Amino acid sequence: MWETIRAEISHFVGENWENRFPNSNEPYFDDALIGFAAAGDPLFREYKRIIGDFHQLPDEILNGAATVICWVLPVSRATRVSNRHQERWPSLEWSLTRNNGENFNTALRRHMVEWLEDRGHRAVAPQLAPGWRQLDDPSAGIASSWSERHAAYAAGLGTFSLNDGLITARGIAHRLGSVVTDLPLPPTSQNAGGYRSNCLYHRDGSCGICISRCPVGAISRQGHDKETCRGYVYGAVPEAVGELYGVAQTGCGLCQTRVPCEERIPSG
Ligand code: SF4
Ligand code: SF4
Repeated sequence: MWETIRAEISHFVGENWENRFPNSNEPYFDDALIGFAAAGDPLFREYKRIIGDFHQLPDEILNGAATVICWVLPVSRATRVSNRHQERWPSLEWSLTRNNGENFNTALRRHMVEWLEDRGHRAVAPQLAPGWRQLDDPSAGIASSWSERHAAYAAGLGTFSLNDGLITARGIAHRLGSVVTDLPLPPTSQNAGGYRSNCLYHRDGSCGICISRCPVGAISRQGHDKETCRGYVYGAVPEAVGELYGVAQTGCGLCQTRVPCEERIPSG
């Protein structure tokens, strides 16, 4: 069954019109990476301690949950290259991918829920569930009741980075999604090297190139300042280029392009 699911996601990414730039046949995303986490994996309970009690267990999203199906949608090479040249604002292509590409990601979540239900399984996309919420927690800062990054980590799709991203086999420039289902599937194996081993800085203290890519100093060797990043990504950038680009969500992604982890796990 897991091969059928992989094929269905791949087919949707390859064929769906929403994964296309306006008036173009160019896709926002390349073929997806796909992984499965066991809903009962102790990591999800750990997330309540690490992120906050507000972070939901798969079973709190879907009673009787067995599997979390996770995917990584790698940003296309042309879009990444366009953003490599940017120093202050994201490129038009990057912003269209953040805005319209995320709409496609939502369509993929809905599609996979329907696809599973059509085959007699129950399924919920956590980000589209009624209980999903964003909050500004006193200890966790800006967070939500379901982290696609943490789900993808549990499914073995990548590890965390200095700039708070997830470095996958296809790099750090991507969008993530997931669906919780009662269909039992064998989990994909988790990264054996540790939860931050794909990031060069965390691996051996080198790199740190993302620090100098950030125009507002939101990354340092101490980590990622979520407040400063958020103020820029949801404030200054849309104010500067949102109207020009014709999108509400512009993103930024400068620290995800022209860096060694942009499109692969850096070898050092
Ligand atoms: S640019 Fe270097 S330090 Fe920054 S996230 Fe990528 S690998 Fe880690
Ligand atoms: S997304 Fe932009 S503002 Fe946020 S840390 Fe990366 S470069 Fe800085």
